[in-house]
Amino acid sequence: MSLHVVWLKRDLRLSDHEPLRAALLSGLPVAIVVLFEPSMERLGSHSERHRTERLRRCAALKQELAAVGATDALAVFSGEAIDVFAAIHERFGIASILAHEETGVEATWMRDRAIALWCRHQNIPFVEFPSGGIVRRLSSFSTWEERWLAHAEASIPDVDLSILARRGVHLGDALQTLDVVPAEGAGTNDALRMLTDWLGHGHRGYRRAMAQPALAERHCSRLSAHIAWGSISVRQVWQCSKDQGIDRASVASFRSRLRWRDHFIQKFEGRPSMEYRNVNPAFDATRTTLVPHTLSRWEQAETGYPLVDACMRCLQTTGWITFRMRAMLVSFVTHHLWQPWQAASDTLASLFIDFEPGIHYAQMQMQAGTTGLHTLRIYNPIVQAEDNDAQATFITRWLPELARLPVPYRKQPWLLSPIEAAMLNFRLGIDYPERIVDVETTGRHARDVLWQIIRSDASRRHAARILATQVVSKTRRP
Ligand SMILES: Cc1cc2nc3c(=O)[nH]c(=O)nc-3n(C[C@H](O)[C@H](O)[C@H](O)COP(=O)(O)OP(=O)(O)OC[C@H]3O[C@@H](n4cnc5c(N)ncnc54)[C@H](O)[C@@H]3O)c2cc1C
Repeated sequence: MSLHVVWLKRDLRLSDHEPLRAALLSGLPVAIVVLFEPSMERLGSHSERHRTERLRRCAALKQELAAVGATDALAVFSGEAIDVFAAIHERFGIASILAHEETGVEATWMRDRAIALWCRHQNIPFVEFPSGGIVRRLSSFSTWEERWLAHAEASIPDVDLSILARRGVHLGDALQTLDVVPAEGAGTNDALRMLTDWLGHGHRGYRRAMAQPALAERHCSRLSAHIAWGSISVRQVWQCSKDQGIDRASVASFRSRLRWRDHFIQKFEGRPSMEYRNVNPAFDATRTTLVPHTLSRWEQAETGYPLVDACMRCLQTTGWITFRMRAMLVSFVTHHLWQPWQAASDTLASLFIDFEPGIHYAQMQMQAGTTGLHTLRIYNPIVQAEDNDAQATFITRWLPELARLPVPYRKQPWLLSPIEAAMLNFRLGIDYPERIVDVETTGRHARDVLWQIIRSDASRRHAARILATQVVSKTRRP
């Protein structure tokens, strides 16, 4: 027997899936494979949270397949890709491996190249399909938006899963499979339901609520994990949200973010070095020293700035916070604590339930101010708390140790006089940490140093070169 292997990576769905559709149309037996690769799970950006998210999505896929009588067509393996494919090939004979192109980190890129080489040696076609609107080897960005829109608007071809009941192959006994976890909330239908609910009511006030952490969790779509792990495609979200909703401006703003998402990923496709290196090398010589104790206070939610610490605790527990608070966390650690963004990047990536390399590294660098292309934003966490958590609702939820203080002091506990603190039985430095730095001073320092670099000839030269070349993705890793 010879079979097609459909390899699911960050595209854990069975609809809007060209590799699966192509395999099913071929007439040969088909096996769908998901891999949990130890080498990928050892990466600093990876976490147990990501593993659980992927497992939950595998369980949801199993349920979807069960509905067409093809549960066994999906095999979930723990092992390195080459080892797993070699074992499948030896036992069944692989006719081809079909997958979406992955705009991932360097390690996944190297893994994919190794698979391509192995396939060449085995005479097995490794067929990679474009992933959504992302174009590999893009030669010019000038028409990218048009192409993206054409893809997003194009009708979505059906995938006839019933074929799997006849031609799905059970690989499960060939190799060690994983026990999968409960699937609730992790399938394509769950994502679609979430989107429909949000378009029904949640979206109202989205634009205003987005910056406010207590409101954002209800008014943002919360689709990011579904999109990042591929339970739903951007195209599916785009088409379902067309002409929907009462608050049209909010839905339009949401839809433009779907395009930004792919725009960022397209840039990462062309400039993968941004995973490690400053986009603009003019910033290379500054902020180079990692101070473990300082970084650890930020990681442990012990900076003494309530909004920063509340965001970190929220992330640790839920894996999600809104855009503005992510930006503030990066701003705090890079500008106020003066730590290299690279030192904070893995911490956040592993906490984010929706970790998406193409967005993550670009945003890390934008917020750290190392691109030389974007406005420098240094968020003051006191101002952010006043503007976006005026009643300290969010702070109180995540820092219950501050709940006994009057609202203004929950945002700035250091302002309590010793008498007030004693009356409230509150000991700054014991019940809640003292401020790690004074943000007025650190903000000024960061602004002075970074603006000096931004205005330098070197930075401007690099920025011009980046603008001229960022559009081309031919330079994807060799
Ligand atoms: C430092 C930093 C790191 C980030 N890392 C990630 C990440 O790893 N994965 C991730 O999905 N988002 C990331 N974001 C972007 C943004 O914060 C999240 O996409 C958003 O908060 C997810 O919530 P939502 O699904 O409710 O978004 P909504 O506001 O409902 O937006 C819908 C979708 O649009 C996309 N989107 C929204 N905002 C942005 C944006 N600013 N840039 C690019 N795409 C966007 C996402 O796919 C999102 O699911 C990061 C932002 C910052 C500042």
